Amino acid sequence: MEAQLLEKNFQILLKTIRLYHPKTDLEMIKLAFEFAVNAHTGQKRMSGEDYIYHPLATAQTLAEMKLSPNIIIAGLLHDVPEDTKFTLEDIKKDFGEDVASLVNGITKLGTIKYRGMERYIENLRKMFIAMAEDLRVILIKFADRLHNLKTLYALPRNKQIRIASEVLEIYAPIANRLGMYEMKGLLEEEAFKYLYPKEYNWIKQIVEEQKKAKEKHLEKNIEFIKQILKKEKITFIEVRGRVKQLYSLYQKLLKHDKDINRVYDFIALRVIVKDVPTCYAVMGIIHKEMKPLKGRIKDFIAQPKPNGYSSLHTTVFTPEGQIVEVQIRTKEMDEEAEYGIAAHWYYDEKGSIKPDKKMKWIKELTKWQKEVTENQKLLERLKIDVFQDRIFVFTPKGDVIDLPKESTPIDFAYHVHTDIGNQCAGALINNHIAPLNTPLKSGDMIEILIDKNRKYPNQDWLKFVKTNVAKGKIRAILAKRTLLEKFLKK
Ligand code: MN
Repeated sequence: MEAQLLEKNFQILLKTIRLYHPKTDLEMIKLAFEFAVNAHTGQKRMSGEDYIYHPLATAQTLAEMKLSPNIIIAGLLHDVPEDTKFTLEDIKKDFGEDVASLVNGITKLGTIKYRGMERYIENLRKMFIAMAEDLRVILIKFADRLHNLKTLYALPRNKQIRIASEVLEIYAPIANRLGMYEMKGLLEEEAFKYLYPKEYNWIKQIVEEQKKAKEKHLEKNIEFIKQILKKEKITFIEVRGRVKQLYSLYQKLLKHDKDINRVYDFIALRVIVKDVPTCYAVMGIIHKEMKPLKGRIKDFIAQPKPNGYSSLHTTVFTPEGQIVEVQIRTKEMDEEAEYGIAAHWYYDEKGSIKPDKKMKWIKELTKWQKEVTENQKLLERLKIDVFQDRIFVFTPKGDVIDLPKESTPIDFAYHVHTDIGNQCAGALINNHIAPLNTPLKSGDMIEILIDKNRKYPNQDWLKFVKTNVAKGKIRAILAKRTLLEKFLKK
C-alpha cells in the first residue's frame, strides 16, 4: 500500500516534468529519487508520514512551477546533508557541482530564524537573500516551506506560531518582491490559518458567501466582455475571473471597515490578449460600454510596480449596475504575475525571453542594495550579487547587523557600541572562541567578551579592521590617550 502510494506520487512528478520539459533526462530524476528514498529510510515526519513524502512534495511543487531539472533534483535531495548520514560530497559525486551547491544553499538558509524582532526584519530579509546566493535556492526554499506549512498541524503550537510568523514576515514579502504572487498567496494563506484562526474562518466564510452570490454575475460579465470585444473584432486569448487571495482580502477588509462591498476587486475579471497595443484598445472598448469609476484607472504597463508587475486596471459599472475590477494584460505579463522570477527560468530554457532584460524586479533588489552601499554592481544572470559586498550577522539576542564583507569581530563590536569595541577582550563566533581578526561570514552569531577594566583598544587592531567606523573610533581614542599621557608627563 505504502510503497504503491509513493510510487504513484513519483509517477505524477515524472509526468509533470515531462509536460513542461519534454527533453529532460528522467533517469537522473529517478536516480535522485532513489538516492533520497535510500537516505531517508526509516525516518518519519512529525505527521507520522515517511520522511520521503516531504522532499517528493517539494519537488512536485517545483515541477508545477515549470522549473528546470536541476532545481527539481535539488528539491528531492534538499534535506539529505542535514538529516541523513549522506554528505554534500556524496551528492556532488553523483549529481554534480550545480545540484550540490543548490542543496548547500538550502542547508545554509535553514539557519536563519525569525525570532520576532521587528526592528530588524528588513535586515533579516536581506540576510535571507544574501545567504541564498542563488535565486534558485530561494525557489526551492519556498517549495520546502510550503509543504512544511501543509503539515504544520502535527507540530506543537509554539512551533506553529514561529514558522507561520516567519512565513508572513520573511518568506511572503520576499516572494512579493520577486513578483511571485501565486507563491506569496499560497504561503500567506497557510500561515494565516495558524496565526489568526478566527479571522481566517471569518474570511473563508465571506468568500464562500460572496462567491455564491456573485458567480452568476461573473459568468454574465465574462460573456458580455467577450461579446463587445468580438463586435470590435478584437482577438483575445482568454477572459476569466479570479477571486482575491484570502490574506490580501483580509488586509484590504481591515482597511475598509470590514465592509466587503467596498472591496471592488474581490472578484476581478482578467482579459488576456496578444500584445500591448491590444491591451489599450481593450481598455478603450470596455470604457465605451461600461462606465469607469473615477480615480480607479491604473496603467501599470507604462508604470510597472516596483516588483515588475504590469497590467492595466480599471473598475467599471456592469450593465446590471455592479462594480467590478477589470485587469488587462498580455500572456507574458500574466505568466510573470503568477510566477514572477520563476517564470523566467521557464522561458529561458525555451529560449524565448532573455531573463536579464525582463527582470524588472532586479531594480527592486538593487534599490535594497543602494540602502546599504553606494557601490552598485550589475547582477549576473543566476547569482545574487546585490549584497555581495555585505554580510549579515547575528548578535546573541538575534538582532541582525549588516557589515561590509570580511569585517572582523572588532568591526562588529564597534558597530554595536563604542564601549564594547574599546573593552573587547575576545570573541565567540557561533559559540567558539575565535581570533579577533577572523573574517565574519553571513549567518554567523557573534558574542563579544568584554573586560570592564580595559580602557583603550589595541593599536594592532588597526592593521585588520575593515570598517571606517571602527578605524575612526580606535584612532580617536588612541589620540586622546596620547594627549592625556603628554599632559601627565608635564
Ligand atoms: Mn525540508
